[in-house]
Amino acid sequence: MVIVMKAGATQAQIDHVTDRITELGFGVHLSRGTERTIIGVIGDERTLNPSIFEVMDGVEKTVSILPPYRLASREVQPEPTVVRVNGVKVGNQRIVIIAGPCSVESRTQLLETAHAVKEAGASMLRGGAYKPRTSPYSFQGMGLKGLEILAEARAETGLPVVTEVMAPDKVGLVAEYADVLQIGARNMQNYDLLKAVGRAHKPVLLKRGMMSTIEELLMSAEYILSNGNPDVILCERGIRTFETYTRNTTDINAIPALKQLTHLPVIGDPSHGTGKWMLVDAVARALIAAGADGLMVEVHLHPETAMSDGAQSLKPERFAELVRHVRAVAEAVGRTA
Ligand code: PEP
Ligand code: MN
Repeated sequence: MVIVMKAGATQAQIDHVTDRITELGFGVHLSRGTERTIIGVIGDERTLNPSIFEVMDGVEKTVSILPPYRLASREVQPEPTVVRVNGVKVGNQRIVIIAGPCSVESRTQLLETAHAVKEAGASMLRGGAYKPRTSPYSFQGMGLKGLEILAEARAETGLPVVTEVMAPDKVGLVAEYADVLQIGARNMQNYDLLKAVGRAHKPVLLKRGMMSTIEELLMSAEYILSNGNPDVILCERGIRTFETYTRNTTDINAIPALKQLTHLPVIGDPSHGTGKWMLVDAVARALIAAGADGLMVEVHLHPETAMSDGAQSLKPERFAELVRHVRAVAEAVGRTA
């Protein structure tokens, strides 16, 4: 951190600041200009609250040098993290496609979908058993029964299962059935939930909040990492903008930005990112071209009867086409699928 003193700050004010820095166990680097003095604080500033200096007489402002996250940072860990989910590696040269319905609706629906997405080239199965719905009157998910069906689909197809956990007291239960614990966009800043999955022994798929910055997403990842779980996969799922034609706006920028800022794997969700099935294939290709390590795509046997997110769900044959398109792009950018 750098502390910029006001023009005309007195020696007593400068001494007060440097004494406080030393008291807190940090080093001081003083730089006297012709008009202002700048004080460098030497040490890991992440534990330091800038406001303790900002309120002092003679201080103009503080400037942070380090990103506020540490464990998620690429500076701290330059080599990419590869998250292993059963036999599937996420963050590897090979891109990973997670597919399945928004919600688990019935045993036959899920099993049939699981076989179809596997056949098309998916390497993990998704499906919500606990659904975060805007309306309390909308379908809330099958709960425990949904988890049992997901486990059955894994047993039949061998596909690892990704499913959302919405509450800290459900983490233990969901972790018994799931291979990856999904934290939904609406819960990205539910810090008790982040701590709870941080203590779980299952990889976590952390979706970006629809109104969260890239830095806030990384701070949420930091909660999980700092609670002991190193296996975090980030997911760009679209953010809210002034545009209303689409449900969300896929933030393509976030993919290369995150790849530069963090060593964690980053995937994209073109289904929630667009809200319209007709846009999903093109945006999936864009995400992979931008450097995403994989995709999460909603697939439904009969989108018109889906209990959630039918408008953005692909029929299995369209999903198979998407996989073919994405493979071509992956190869064009030096990846495999
Ligand atoms: C989902 O994956 O079905 C979901 C609810 O996603 P999000 O949390 O990104 O809205
Ligand atoms: Mn959905």
